[in-house]
Amino acid sequence: MASKSEEIHYGIPASPGVIIGVVKSLSFETKTVSREIIADTDEEIRTFRAAIDNVKRTLEKTADKIFQRLGPEFARIFEAQAMIADDQVWNSNVEKRIKEEKVCAEYIYLDEAGKVTKQLRNSNDSYLRERMLDIESVTSKLISRMKGEKRATFKGLKGATVVTAHYIHPGDILALSIKRNLGVATDIGGATSHVALMAKSLSVPAVLGLGDVTEKLSTGARVILDGYKGILIINPSPASRRRYREIKQWESQLKRQLGQLRLKPAVTKDKINIGILANIELPSEVPKVIASGASGIGLYRTEYLFLTGPEFPSFEEQYRIYSSILRKMGDRPVVIRTFDLGGDKFPGVARRKFELNPFLGWRAIRVCLDRPDIFKIQLKALLKASKYGNLSIMIPMISNYEELAQTQRILEECKAELRREKVRFKENIPLGIMLEVPSAVLIAEFLASRVEFFSIGTNDLIQYTMAVDRGNELLSNLYQSFHPSILNLIKMSVQAAHARDIKVSVCGEMAADPLGAVLLAGLGVDELSVSFQYVGLLKKVIRSIDFDTARNIVRKALRMKSEQEIITYVEKETKKRFPDLENIIAFMKRNSNG
Ligand code: PEP
Ligand code: MG
Repeated sequence: MASKSEEIHYGIPASPGVIIGVVKSLSFETKTVSREIIADTDEEIRTFRAAIDNVKRTLEKTADKIFQRLGPEFARIFEAQAMIADDQVWNSNVEKRIKEEKVCAEYIYLDEAGKVTKQLRNSNDSYLRERMLDIESVTSKLISRMKGEKRATFKGLKGATVVTAHYIHPGDILALSIKRNLGVATDIGGATSHVALMAKSLSVPAVLGLGDVTEKLSTGARVILDGYKGILIINPSPASRRRYREIKQWESQLKRQLGQLRLKPAVTKDKINIGILANIELPSEVPKVIASGASGIGLYRTEYLFLTGPEFPSFEEQYRIYSSILRKMGDRPVVIRTFDLGGDKFPGVARRKFELNPFLGWRAIRVCLDRPDIFKIQLKALLKASKYGNLSIMIPMISNYEELAQTQRILEECKAELRREKVRFKENIPLGIMLEVPSAVLIAEFLASRVEFFSIGTNDLIQYTMAVDRGNELLSNLYQSFHPSILNLIKMSVQAAHARDIKVSVCGEMAADPLGAVLLAGLGVDELSVSFQYVGLLKKVIRSIDFDTARNIVRKALRMKSEQEIITYVEKETKKRFPDLENIIAFMKRNSNG
């Protein structure tokens, strides 16, 4: 039999890791629902009601389970779906049509769902698109139930498996995460979708947004899923299989090695301490942060609290979440960033109007200063929670001096209100800002005089300096972390911070790159904050270098004219001067290039 040729498909890297295995297809063919005429409409309506009831109860049970395991923000997804299933107006309309048209319930339900999802499909609003997926998910469950089919389950899955679907439901990821060696590939879904968040938080490798790939795949097909690069290889050649087997071996060796550094400090050979902290998106990541050996949380992206619900989280809800994180972290520092809404992260409820350039638009502190009603609730919840731990507050996207001054005025107002309300809070909570807009870096000496720390957000600093949309695949070669302009902006930030004796950290993805970490250490950055998966790796990097040598490497790099020149030089010098890092660099290099 002629062997099929290899096909490589590119999607969105949503959760890191590699799976070499076979496909389990979950694609549910709604196309197979035909317009069946029924004789007994009363019987059809009874069956429909029972199916609705069953779907609703199952969703509520899932919501409960997820509440226990991942917290309320994910449970809300399922609660919202249970509400869709229970929609009285919708369901009575379906029943009315069954009676009038004498057509089977599943056909009518699908038809009704199609009308709504058609409108939502082309929406620019990520919240509305998520709702469309919710409706599709409920419809698919209901039709399965009506047809008496069992939804594809994960029972009996053996060995390395890549679960494929047009769209996978966050609940399915939860079920998947119980098994080892499973990954996920879907046609739709973006880097900030619920599924991506869930996959990362549960360490399930995932590639989303593959287009129409699942149509080509059926259960049993051989594939390789590369969640680092966002690649799905169908019918991998023996050479690809060999390459990825090697990568997996490296990956597990590396994990074993790095795990041993958990309790060791991140200190260079010449005894300079560099704090390694963790970034989180979800409160449920806190135990993993502690287990990783991170010395604290360097960035909690609170805007994710919004992304699963139609409403802003209440004061009580925020207070409960912030205090719980602080309590669990004990004395360790916890930097909570105020809402960075806007750009590609916007809940429907907050969107003001369509923007042509949302990343250059109504985002982060700009939204908060325009909406002090929302901002003050968050600040007061943070202040009230401060008594439970070691809190710092961080403001994103500061681009001028007045924004900072105005933020501080609002913060003082919040404190005064709490004092009047006799609510206790810590008086000296450090306030810091993110340096992620070049204009802020260029006035960093003035900003430094008003804050207790800086954190450089390289993800945005690069996009705003290079004028390259950070999410645009077409421009990825222009998104240059090692461009001389970026290194110089970081150098200026460090100088401005240290002249005022305040700390400066880096919490963008550049910090998770070993060569990036060598450069950042050499530039004098005090702390690095990365996803918990990278904490061990960074400890290894810091413990393998000496600060003086890293500083000399940086000095020379700062005189170079292009990113390519800098990368070649830094890589060569790092391998030569810090031989312990050679394997790590080889592993990471393959994950970021070629
Ligand atoms: C950054 O911009 O580097 C950063 C850490 O913030 P975010 O990725 O949330 O924009
Ligand atoms: Mg940012």
